[in-house]
Amino acid sequence: MLKIAKLIFNPIQENTYILWDESGECIVVDAGNVSAREDNRLVEYITEQGLKPVMAVNTHGHFDHLAGVEHLKRTFDIPFAMSGKDTYLLEGAVASARMFGMSDCSFPAMIDIDLDTMEELHFGNTTLKIIPTPGHTPGHVSLYNEQMGIVLTGDTLFRESIGRTDLPGGDYSQIMRSILEKLIVLGDEVKVYPGHGEETTIGHESLYNPFIVEVINKEVNF
Ligand SMILES: [Zn+2]
Repeated sequence: MLKIAKLIFNPIQENTYILWDESGECIVVDAGNVSAREDNRLVEYITEQGLKPVMAVNTHGHFDHLAGVEHLKRTFDIPFAMSGKDTYLLEGAVASARMFGMSDCSFPAMIDIDLDTMEELHFGNTTLKIIPTPGHTPGHVSLYNEQMGIVLTGDTLFRESIGRTDLPGGDYSQIMRSILEKLIVLGDEVKVYPGHGEETTIGHESLYNPFIVEVINKEVNF
């Protein structure tokens, strides 16, 4: 059975998720650990649970979701998977991080596994469907496990909010299409694990997310 744990890292309060199953293999999604203390917290959690990391996976390439990937890669000798469409963000990550006082992080120079070319991700006995959800960034993906009815939405869909689209590469129409055509259709019961803030459900967001409600009520065009 798939299990999921959340650790909150860095000044942007980013959600880093550890996913594992009965095989003991785990993946770390959006490793945002930025200091020696946070690096240790992540490694200790993995060690305490007796898990074997097999991949660092990112929903997108923003620095606050990426700050811990290089440490994770080096510590466990694992590959880094992300959409190739977000590769351009790797170059600017150091400068962006510095603006938020995260001065001594190192970032991966390249992607080892391009999620853009894949429909599914496998680890242990678990399958995650890779759902392209562009709009916050061009290469943003959401990760969906059908058996457990959970979806990791990164910075596309938050509890009662959505990701910013005013950053370079952002596109409001695109993020709304991603949410309505790719995420809302997963069904009301599906549990949402976002890149920042608390968990929610698709059902809750259909009713209470103001960005979704205003579009459904045709108060705004997208
Ligand atoms: Zn982001």
